[in-house]
Amino acid sequence: MRANEQTSDRTGDVTAGTDPRAAGRAARRDAAVRAAVEQGLLDTDAPLVALLDATGIRESAADLRAAFEAVTAPGTPVLHAFAVKASPLVPVLRLLREEGIGAEVASPGELALARAAGVEPGRTVLDSPAKTLAELREALELGIAVNADNPQELERIDALVAGTDVRSPLGIRVNPQVGGGSIEALSTATATSKFGVALRDEGAREWVIQAYLDRPWLTRLHAHTGSQGIALTMMARGVAETYELAEEINRRAGRRQVDTLDIGGGLPVNFASEESRPTYAEYARLLKETVPGLFDGRYGLVTEFGRSLLAKHGTVITRVEYAKSAGGRPVAVTHAGVQVATRTVYAPESWPLRIAAYDAKGLPKEGPAVVQDVAGPACFAGDLLAQGQELPLLEQGDYAAALDTGAYYFAHHYAYNSLPRPAVLGYAQDASGGITFATVRPAQPIEEIVAESGAAHTDALTHLG
Ligand SMILES: *Cc1c(COP(=O)(O)O)cnc(C)c1O
Repeated sequence: MRANEQTSDRTGDVTAGTDPRAAGRAARRDAAVRAAVEQGLLDTDAPLVALLDATGIRESAADLRAAFEAVTAPGTPVLHAFAVKASPLVPVLRLLREEGIGAEVASPGELALARAAGVEPGRTVLDSPAKTLAELREALELGIAVNADNPQELERIDALVAGTDVRSPLGIRVNPQVGGGSIEALSTATATSKFGVALRDEGAREWVIQAYLDRPWLTRLHAHTGSQGIALTMMARGVAETYELAEEINRRAGRRQVDTLDIGGGLPVNFASEESRPTYAEYARLLKETVPGLFDGRYGLVTEFGRSLLAKHGTVITRVEYAKSAGGRPVAVTHAGVQVATRTVYAPESWPLRIAAYDAKGLPKEGPAVVQDVAGPACFAGDLLAQGQELPLLEQGDYAAALDTGAYYFAHHYAYNSLPRPAVLGYAQDASGGITFATVRPAQPIEEIVAESGAAHTDALTHLG
């Protein structure tokens, strides 16, 4: 077989040659599914579990570091801050920390997770659009970097830094308004996006420049041009506009006031096949071509990738409880639906997932491809993990795996039908091929759902009168 031919693993479409990591990742995943079934981690009592490939996460972190090392001048300070919202799990943040990756947080909860994982304040960036005064105060006390979203927030920061030694690197988030992508809800650089200071609005650019000239402690500039669905060239244009603004600020200030550019995250993920593309290396090279000045050593860099670091390394596995047929279409009824794949269920065109079929022993299922639906357990008709997907016919007792769900899926539980959060297990493969699992997050017990649902206040409403 030629290297660039499709090598057919059972999940369909590992293209060798372009992503050297793809085949290994798919093989580890198959081994993990089989081991999970053999070790009884998935059975009639536990029909749904989420898996995280620790090796894969390390590989992506290494690829990210290497991509920027290859384009930056020697000695350039680069902080890769993982966007915690993509996988808000303490062990994930800890693993990334070990790989030299910091944390981008956008809420008190995310900051608490980053701190629980031991991510240092100096490697943490706070970015949310609705920071309270208390959150700002905490961040400044800790020395965490803060990007102000708007003039009112900057006024609050003014009051907090007055008369103190500022330890936190501080900046302003701008929206270069370069345009949106294919997914409206994730397009952060449209003309009317809610994020940052809209640079092309009348007077806005001048306001930003004056804000820096008035505040010598503003040393960073931040933009995050969008997530999944944005073209790389558009992302690069957003970075270029931000760089031009930093250059103008520094010219007007007569010194290198802005010393660090935070270019956000947003590298899209390929959900259509096993391959990781575009790669960090491709994006870093495009950035260097588009904005060479950003890489000549005058600026430090912060990145905030989320989805691209984790997506490929997560898998949701669920038992097929029933296999039925409706209107001539086979439907596999499983335990994975809207509670673990909310975006896919509500916006299937924007968020299609690949499903892999395994038999009752956890082995890749063979057989002719059959067009079928894979349904979840929730009580509404649209609760479908996949519609009309071609895969070997799923039968009762088989397992269906939703691939590429490591970011913004099972870690983003949606409590519909009081469905519990599934266990998240990390896995790694030893030299002899054996799989070791570790609990990342235990399954949610039903008692916890009852408690969270007001059990301690049972008579709250009846007593009101
Ligand atoms: C969501 C977000 C990110 C991460 O985006 P990904 O598409 O997951 O890489 C980075 N920065 C900010 C400010 C964000 O809101």
